[in-house]
Amino acid sequence: MQKSALNKYKTMLIEIRNRMSGEVSRLIEAVPEKAGAAGDLSHVPTHNADRESEDIDNEMSLIHNEEAILADVQEALERIEDGVYGACTECGGKIAEARLEALPYTPYCIDCAAKAAPAW
Ligand SMILES: [Zn+2]
Repeated sequence: MQKSALNKYKTMLIEIRNRMSGEVSRLIEAVPEKAGAAGDLSHVPTHNADRESEDIDNEMSLIHNEEAILADVQEALERIEDGVYGACTECGGKIAEARLEALPYTPYCIDCAAKAAPAW
């Protein structure tokens, strides 16, 4: 891959990392507040409390997803440093540029992504 293309993806990855680090910290900070608030409101009908704890579950899974993406972003930045960025970590094949434009942190080519991780 050309250096100019690598630099472009590197910039995209760093932007994603910066944006998501802030987002994850914000979510993590918000969860204990909500948990505390749900505990204090003991007079609230039970179905509201249930909804509150569902919200917290949703936020926890959101945090989990974002942390997983952050880890992928970090690994992609390391692949750029190692000079192997753009190659599928599964089969070693070339990842299409259109796919990298959309998902610069993906470790898989489209074929392997379809086999290994349906979400991607
Ligand atoms: Zn592959």
